[in-house]
Amino acid sequence: MDDALQPGLYIVATPIGNLSDLSPRAADILARADLIAVEDSRVTAKLLQHIGARRPMLAYHDHNADRVRPGLIARMAREAVALVSDAGTPLISDPGYKLVRDARAAGIAVTTIPGPSAVIAALTLAGLPTDRFAFFGFLPAKAGAKAAAIAEAASFEGSLVFYESGPRLGATLAALRDGLGEREAAVAREISKRFEETATGTLAELAARYAEAPPKGEIVIVVGPPAAAAAAGEAEVDAALRDALSRLSPSRAAAEVAAQLGLPKRAVYERAQQLK
Ligand code: SAM
Repeated sequence: MDDALQPGLYIVATPIGNLSDLSPRAADILARADLIAVEDSRVTAKLLQHIGARRPMLAYHDHNADRVRPGLIARMAREAVALVSDAGTPLISDPGYKLVRDARAAGIAVTTIPGPSAVIAALTLAGLPTDRFAFFGFLPAKAGAKAAAIAEAASFEGSLVFYESGPRLGATLAALRDGLGEREAAVAREISKRFEETATGTLAELAARYAEAPPKGEIVIVVGPPAAAAAAGEAEVDAALRDALSRLSPSRAAAEVAAQLGLPKRAVYERAQQLK
């Protein structure tokens, strides 16, 4: 336990709320690292205080990463450098991937200490299919770009996961309802914290629930997969496809109709081939 750590880069996941979720191995690595690259030293100082450790810290965030990275890589050749973010797993909607990329290119040993991440925690709470899911991080803030990103996500035949903040939740749920149609969804808030809450329902129900009263805290939205083509009604699918096929190739027509009706693209494409 007291042996010096081998030089290299250590990716350390930290709690997303409850400090007791810090793993013993994560605590051990943090207590022994020669240097910890942090997003915000005040946040990590509290974590170090929790485990009774004091280690040198260096800020590594979106605004200084390009400038700081080469020096960090050089230090990893002879020292143990840990990377943490303010909460959860580094690199997941947080800085770090370029650090790992450059460390690998420099022949530095990279070790990960897995642990909490809000995307996985929310999937365990939602009660929606988890065999296939796609993670989109934060959607763009502007309405047009947001709708375009949602249209792109619509044809994925699995659950969809988005990070969001309280003030934007209502608008984002409304955009998801408009872009994905009637799907089951969950809003997981303040996971592992005092006011933890998971609300489930259709996108329309959740959009209505949060339209007037934006909740506080950190949020993950999970949306279930598109319903089977039968659910939309074959006549509705055929009518939409006929219209789209008069303007577009079968592949593009299928993508448009699948997004419009919240259906799996593959099934709609097969029907488009039959109709053509
Ligand atoms: N690296 C982190 C991870 O592994 O989950 C994510 C960092 S990202 C900058 C922060 C976002 O993650 C928040 O805006 C929220 O969407 C989500 N998040 C983090 N902690 C959360 C929690 N306790 N409950 C719900 N969502 C959380």
